[in-house]
Amino acid sequence: MNSTSSKQHIGEGQRLDPQDWNVFGNDMHKLLDSCLERMQDVRNKPWIPPAEDSKLKVALNDVQKPKATADVFDMTTKDIMPYAGGNTHPRFWGWVHGCGLPVAVGAEIVAATMNCNAGGRRHISAEVEVAVIDWLLSLCNLQGTVPRQSAEDKAFGAIVTGTSQATILAFNCARQQRFGAEVRVKGNSAFPDVAFYAVKGAHSCMARALECCGYGSRSLRLVPAEDGKMNMTVLAEMVAADKAAGIVPMCVVATAGSVNLGEFDNLNAISDFCKENEIWMHIDAAFGFWMVLGEQRLSHLVSGMDNACSIALDFHKWMGVPYDCGAFMCYSKELQRDTFTSRPAYLAQAVGEESAGMAGGDHWMCDYSLELSRGFRALKVWVAIQTVGTDAYSALITDNCNQAEYLGELVKASPVLTLAKDVISNIVCFYPTQQDQKLAPHSGLIAARLQLKGTVTFTTTIIDGRETLRAAFVNHRTTHADVELSVRAVEEEIAAHIAANATAAN
Ligand SMILES: *Cc1c(COP(=O)(O)O)cnc(C)c1O
Repeated sequence: MNSTSSKQHIGEGQRLDPQDWNVFGNDMHKLLDSCLERMQDVRNKPWIPPAEDSKLKVALNDVQKPKATADVFDMTTKDIMPYAGGNTHPRFWGWVHGCGLPVAVGAEIVAATMNCNAGGRRHISAEVEVAVIDWLLSLCNLQGTVPRQSAEDKAFGAIVTGTSQATILAFNCARQQRFGAEVRVKGNSAFPDVAFYAVKGAHSCMARALECCGYGSRSLRLVPAEDGKMNMTVLAEMVAADKAAGIVPMCVVATAGSVNLGEFDNLNAISDFCKENEIWMHIDAAFGFWMVLGEQRLSHLVSGMDNACSIALDFHKWMGVPYDCGAFMCYSKELQRDTFTSRPAYLAQAVGEESAGMAGGDHWMCDYSLELSRGFRALKVWVAIQTVGTDAYSALITDNCNQAEYLGELVKASPVLTLAKDVISNIVCFYPTQQDQKLAPHSGLIAARLQLKGTVTFTTTIIDGRETLRAAFVNHRTTHADVELSVRAVEEEIAAHIAANATAAN
C-alpha cells in the first residue's frame, strides 16, 4: 500500500463531478436541445404566470441524497423554463427589458466552463473585459467636465451587473474626485454636505445610489423639465442656492433616455455648464447610450455624451446580452482605480519575476469596481458584438424607434386612444380616451388582461397625473405587424369592456 492511496477515500475528489461523462453528455445535449427549441419557438412563448403548484415543485426538500441529473434537468426545462418573464417574446414592451440573444447562450456555457473569477489575477478574462471597455470608448471616448489627474491619464470603465450598480460607482468616483483620498478614510461626515442634480423623472437608481453612498436621497435635487429636457436656468439657480448655503454641488446627472418617455437631456448644454462650474457630469444612458449607433436623427440625441466624466449603461437591454450585464465608464482611469483599489497582503500584486505567475496581470478589475469575486460577464458581450455586428445593432436601434413612431401614429388615428406625449425615441405612452369618464377600462386593467392572454406586454406609468399604457421598444424580434396587432388588441379590449358594462347595466 503506498502512502497516497492509503489516504484516498472512496469518492474523494470527484463527489461533485459527473459520475459518468457519457451519461452526463447525453443529459447536457438534451438540455441544450430543449433550450434551442424554446429559443426557436419564442414567438409562441409569451409570458405565462407560474403554475399553481410551482412553489411546491421548486421547494428544496429531500436534498440529502443526489437526484439524477437527467431528472433535475427535466424539472428545470418542464417546471421552470416555461414560466419565464416573457421578455424574450416579440411583443414584450414592458419596462425596459432586453430579449436576449441565442448566441450568448454559447458564451454563457463557455464562461461557466472556465469559471473565471474575473476580479483579478493573471488570466484572459481581464483582457476580454478591457477589449470590451476599449470598444465602448471607441464609441464614446470620455473627456470629463473636470480636470484629469495627470497628462497620461485616460478613460476606463468596468463591466458590472447593470446601470444601478454603475451609478453607485459613478457617485463614488465623483466624491473621490471632489474630496480626495481622505474621504475613503474619514467618510462623509468630515466633509461638507453635497448636492446632486437630475431632471424630474430621472430613474430611481439615482436616489438609491445616494442612499448607498451615505448621502441620503435628500441630497438629490430634481430639476424641472422643459420640453422633456432639464431646465438649465433652474439648474443654475439651484446650484447657486446650494453654493450660497455652503453645500457642494457634486454632480449633475444627465438623463439620456428617460424611463417614462425616452426623453434626452441636452448633453452639450449640461456639459458646458459642468465645465464652467467644475462639476462632475454623469449620464444615465441605460438604454439611450445605444442611440450612438442609430441613424443621424437618433445619434443626434446623444451628441455631447463624450464630454461626461462618467456614464452608466446596460448591455442587457438594447444589446440583448443576457442578464445581468451593464457597464460603467469613467473619464479617468487613475481616479477610478484610486476610488476602489484595496489590496491587503493576500491580494498583493506580484512584481518582477513573480509577475509571470498568477498574481501578476496588468488589470485586476477588483481595483476598478466594488466587486472582488465576479463572473466573466465580458465574454457574452464580446461574443455578442462580434456575432451580431454593429451594422445589425444600428439597424435594430432605428427599427425600434420607427416602431415606436408607428405605434404613436396608430394611436393618434384610433378613435378610442390618446397619445400621452409626442414620441421622442423608442418609448410610447397612451391611454384609452374615455378612461377618465370611466367608460373605458383603465390602462392597468387592459395591460393585465393582454398580458394574461399572452397577446402583448404593455406596462403602465403615470404621465401628467394620468395612468397610461407604456411600450418601450428595445426588442429585436418586434415587427411593424406586431405593433398593428397590439393596437387592434387594445381597441378590442376596450370595446369588449364597454359592451360587457352595457350588458351589466341593462
Ligand atoms: C433600466 C434603467 C436603469 C437601471 O438599470 P439596471 O440595469 O436595471 O440596474 C436606470 N436608468 C434607466 C433610464 C433605465 O432604463
